[in-house]
Amino acid sequence: MTEEQQADRLLELEAGIIEQNYGSYHHVQGRHYRNLDDAARERRRLAEMYLREEIRLEGICAWCDRPFDEDEQKTPAAGRFIHTGKCTDEFNALCTSVGGRTLDLAPDELRAFDAWSNSPTDSDIESSLGRTFEASAREAR
Ligand SMILES: [Zn+2]
Repeated sequence: MTEEQQADRLLELEAGIIEQNYGSYHHVQGRHYRNLDDAARERRRLAEMYLREEIRLEGICAWCDRPFDEDEQKTPAAGRFIHTGKCTDEFNALCTSVGGRTLDLAPDELRAFDAWSNSPTDSDIESSLGRTFEASAREAR
């Protein structure tokens, strides 16, 4: 994430905090601040904390939790990144099985995923993210 992207993201996170507090500029995490400057400072502190966490998570595979090596290939998946290769294959296998489309898993692997039969489809996940996987992939390029 470039410095400019970080600055934009910080503003988005602050806007999100205001939205979470029903549009109030006097509240942060439900706590009332009589002084608007105090609320703004607390909102900024919280947004910076969220941003640091997002940046930290950018460096970690969402599938296997191992850090990415420098210049290692990453693939966007549901708003995070995973290792291209083994992790992508495993993730795609899970998505395919819960999406109820092509099932190319061995029968015993398939049984392991039975608990997921009522899981959300890709389009459910995309609508909850507010963007398509394709848009996420484009953004990552
Ligand atoms: Zn991985």
